[in-house]
Amino acid sequence: MYNNRIARLRERLELPLLVTFLPNIRYLTGFTGSNAFVLVSDQRFVFITDGRYGEAAAALLESIDGGELVVYSTGLEDVLAAQMAGYGKVGLESQDVKWGFVHGLKAKVNCGLTPTSGIVEALRAVKDQTEIAALTAAAGAGDAAFSEVRALVDGSQSEGDVGWSLIDVMRRAGGRQANWPPIVAAGANAALPHHRSGTGALGAGLLLLDYGCTVDGYHSDMSRTIWLRGEPDSTTKRMHRAVLEAQEAGIAAVGPGVTGAEVDEACRAVLRGYDYEDLFVHSTGHGVGLEIHEAPRLAVTSQDELLPGHVVTIEPGVYVPGVGGVRIEDMVLVTEDGCRVLTQSEKGLEA
Ligand code: ZN
Repeated sequence: MYNNRIARLRERLELPLLVTFLPNIRYLTGFTGSNAFVLVSDQRFVFITDGRYGEAAAALLESIDGGELVVYSTGLEDVLAAQMAGYGKVGLESQDVKWGFVHGLKAKVNCGLTPTSGIVEALRAVKDQTEIAALTAAAGAGDAAFSEVRALVDGSQSEGDVGWSLIDVMRRAGGRQANWPPIVAAGANAALPHHRSGTGALGAGLLLLDYGCTVDGYHSDMSRTIWLRGEPDSTTKRMHRAVLEAQEAGIAAVGPGVTGAEVDEACRAVLRGYDYEDLFVHSTGHGVGLEIHEAPRLAVTSQDELLPGHVVTIEPGVYVPGVGGVRIEDMVLVTEDGCRVLTQSEKGLEA
């Protein structure tokens, strides 16, 4: 699997690449530690890490053809410069490296350094069967959390309590806690797309949930908006109907060859019809994988073209300041002839 990924990376390389972004290194090697550098060229694959990870890296490299391991204790820049000697120019991952790192490296190397962007990320965007299985399992854990927590929430809990309940169910369903907290937003708090949970009792009314977990490092991401106790007011019902229609239009638009902008417009056009377009204050969706937000992007200006194997979210929302908000989000897998929705939870406002 890793040899295959490395071979596909080599096909895209115009010059040797120093991979520094850890999700990219995980994708290429399976490494899950916190410090590593990978130098890939046509001929060589050099994995550089410090003493804490030497043993783990040696085990991983056994399955990588021609993989060389360099374990250092100090002088990282000298170590990198020694490996890069002989190359005319080496690419760096411009979204990841810091100015101080580039400056320090420049002082040591005698090759040129040049910015690159999105090379490994473009490979990562198209998921293989193993990755799709992990994403499907993570989505399933999210669904389990929704059905269990929905049945248990009666308004006596706080936003924070609900968040922990979601995490607990996902953990029992085989997911690991994501590195971002669930968004649990009641009433007017739901007007804030990234509200931080409070400690007061929820009471009756609107409740927006946006959360996920990881399985084998692959993220899930879903949102539902529900009504606790009693009859929803007409404003909330209208917002919910508009967002649900927009979200279903977005899913219907997904397929190979469609651009991110086209999917975004499918959602946006529905909200425009309800005069809600100005209240949709974020983009329609994003790729999900080893990162919670990755390529491709589904947004007004996105020319990213969907391909079979992409996994993206479709998550339109409407937010009325001081009143509330509705967001509905699913993860979908782009297939040869359309898409398959990975998150299966019901989308209704009322139970
Ligand atoms: Zn999302």
